[in-house]
Amino acid sequence: VEEQLRQAHKMDVVGQLAGGVAHDFNNMLTGIIGAAEMLNWRLGEDPYNAKLTGVILDAATRSADLTRQLLAFSRKGKITSTAISINDCINAVVAILERTIDKRIDLRVELKAQNPTVIGDPGLLQNALLNLAVNARDAMPEGGTLTFTTCNVELAGSALPGQLAAGPYLEVSVADTGIGMTPEVLEHIYEPFFTTKETGKGTGLGLAAVYGTVKEHNGTIGVTSEPGRGTVFRLSLPSGASQASELADGEETVQGKGG
Ligand code: ADP
Repeated sequence: VEEQLRQAHKMDVVGQLAGGVAHDFNNMLTGIIGAAEMLNWRLGEDPYNAKLTGVILDAATRSADLTRQLLAFSRKGKITSTAISINDCINAVVAILERTIDKRIDLRVELKAQNPTVIGDPGLLQNALLNLAVNARDAMPEGGTLTFTTCNVELAGSALPGQLAAGPYLEVSVADTGIGMTPEVLEHIYEPFFTTKETGKGTGLGLAAVYGTVKEHNGTIGVTSEPGRGTVFRLSLPSGASQASELADGEETVQGKGG
């Protein structure tokens, strides 16, 4: 618990710093993008000029994407809070993945939660699951299985770190059979800019954003990983069981793809 608190504090400080920098940076980028678009409009007839403004626009747009991710990680306060179905989030993520995933990766979805409802921000949660899924995909260059599982759990106070409330939680796990992580890597994965991917491939912001989102939803995130065998990320999110039990469909769905 001590270690968890220390880590949480570190993430708070990093998050505030990152948020401040990202905010200013975003304003400057808006200026750069606006001016480059104007230049392109005035000088773009000439192919060489068009190419140069294209380079500026491309780099500035990618920087803006990065700062958006940073802001998502550090964003204080307001998230939209509605009763959402995690099944819908997972299905949306699967639809996106199917377009980018290699045939050698078998995609499995095991929706075991009778009540898949979470109170939260659908966009943020979907993004968090997508980040986990993309990491899982990247961890399986030789193919493997990516499994999403949901289930309902009742967590007692003692099982929960910090000030989290006891009660019904929805557990979502994202498991891969990929390269796994060493304890040294595991220690740093939630830190912004920590990446083991080659330059240009990873920003190191994915898991930092996931961590931020989970925290904002008063949930917890855990991971188990073994080099050469794979990784399982588990999110526990407070589920809107009492508010939304009528939404439960009570069905277990198993769906496979590829193979
Ligand atoms: P990025 O994906 O841009 O590197 P992340 O914050 O999403 O940034 O991940 C940080 C690092 O954590 C990755 O570079 C990788 O080393 C490790 N990692 C995350 N997910 C997995 C996974 N499913 N399997 C193996 N390693 C992972």
